[in-house]
Amino acid sequence: MEKFKFEIKKTCKQSGARIGELTTPHGVIETPVFMPVGTLATVKALSPEEVKAAGAQIILSNAYHLYMRPGHELVARAGGLHTFMAWDRPILTDSGGFQVFSLAGLRKIGDDGVRFHSHLDGSAHFITPEKSMEIQNALGADIIMAFDECSEYGADYATAAAAVRRTLDWLDRCKKAHGNPAQMLFPIVQGNMYKDLRLLSLKESAARAGAGIAVGGLSVGEPKEIMYEMLDHMRPHMPEDKARYLMGVGSPDCIIEGVSRGIDMFDCVLPTRVARNGTAMTWRGKLVIRNNEYAEDFRPIDENCGCYACRHFSRAYIRHLINVNEIMGGRLLSLHNISFLIELTERIKDAIREDRLLDFAREHGDIY
Ligand SMILES: [Zn+2]
Repeated sequence: MEKFKFEIKKTCKQSGARIGELTTPHGVIETPVFMPVGTLATVKALSPEEVKAAGAQIILSNAYHLYMRPGHELVARAGGLHTFMAWDRPILTDSGGFQVFSLAGLRKIGDDGVRFHSHLDGSAHFITPEKSMEIQNALGADIIMAFDECSEYGADYATAAAAVRRTLDWLDRCKKAHGNPAQMLFPIVQGNMYKDLRLLSLKESAARAGAGIAVGGLSVGEPKEIMYEMLDHMRPHMPEDKARYLMGVGSPDCIIEGVSRGIDMFDCVLPTRVARNGTAMTWRGKLVIRNNEYAEDFRPIDENCGCYACRHFSRAYIRHLINVNEIMGGRLLSLHNISFLIELTERIKDAIREDRLLDFAREHGDIY
């Protein structure tokens, strides 16, 4: 059996959105899929059992953070990331490119790689495409990402164009250095908000891609309309037969709009981050459970949600936990928010099967 393949099972006649199956060594992922983020080898505050119960098919982890702590070699000695964190379903690791480039003032980019100082202790590091592959090979995720350069939002054309060329050059180096056939490498499309650069990057990346391709450098500060415009522009040139992953995007409205534009995979720290701040995601938009108005609201967060939090606890109770800084409050909201985003992808799949995804988007305008 092929270790990796992507097959489209159904295309929505109304929107062109797809239901697909991405086969990996740790199982088949049905797309569209939301991937909870476990940056440091844990989806914050939740056990793997709970993340599975929420319906997660795959989680995302971060090569840069695990390289810094506890070190990729230690994870390899532990038997790889799956064993280390006791997660037996697929894992995707981000290359670390985005995190390194976010270290403004601490880093220096050259054609060979990126020199930077640790955000933790100031120690000097040098990450190259080859090093990123070494780290991700050691971690052992099913899907690994090419080491790319994400130019800043607002960067001028020449800077964005140079980042696209460098990203393609680095992709070739990643492909050469990547030695583990049990891991699939996704190229990353860059190009900032310049349409011709997006197309150049897309075409060159697609020619070098296996079963999947990622779109990076969006949702980096631009208005959502511009992100949608970029997706619309790239869409006719997107390879049909590859899983398409929109990196770092995962708010409910962006998932609906993204799938409608042919995207298959999403990830975002949002559900767990806002949970720890006392916010629940619902079909009627955000519910700031911390607020006074829920002090005596004994209904669940969402009456139609089947998650553990909604089956057992009231808004008033969860609000109380958040207000007294009990860990359980953030845990219950994290569980609900991840369950909600995964339930959203399930309903999106139903709408695709019924050829009515654009109607679905209109019906759920409250989510936006
Ligand atoms: Zn719930």
